[in-house]
Amino acid sequence: MMTTMLSPEIVTVPSLVDRCDSCSAAAKAEIALTSGGSLVFCGHHANKNAEKLTRVASRITVEDGFEWAAQSPPA
Ligand SMILES: [Zn+2]
Repeated sequence: MMTTMLSPEIVTVPSLVDRCDSCSAAAKAEIALTSGGSLVFCGHHANKNAEKLTRVASRITVEDGFEWAAQSPPA
């Protein structure tokens, strides 16, 4: 199956103040959805769902220094 990447805009900020929607750890990434609304994830959950999130996101805000799994091209 071919993967269509819509390449959401990725914004880096010095820090995020929110908490992960899944585990309440400090947020490392905020995902604005194309369908509206947003999701906030810690590094663990953001990267765990990176591929899925990239497909539904219009914009992804990551904390500076966080290595977002979907940000780099696949090796
Ligand atoms: Zn989490």
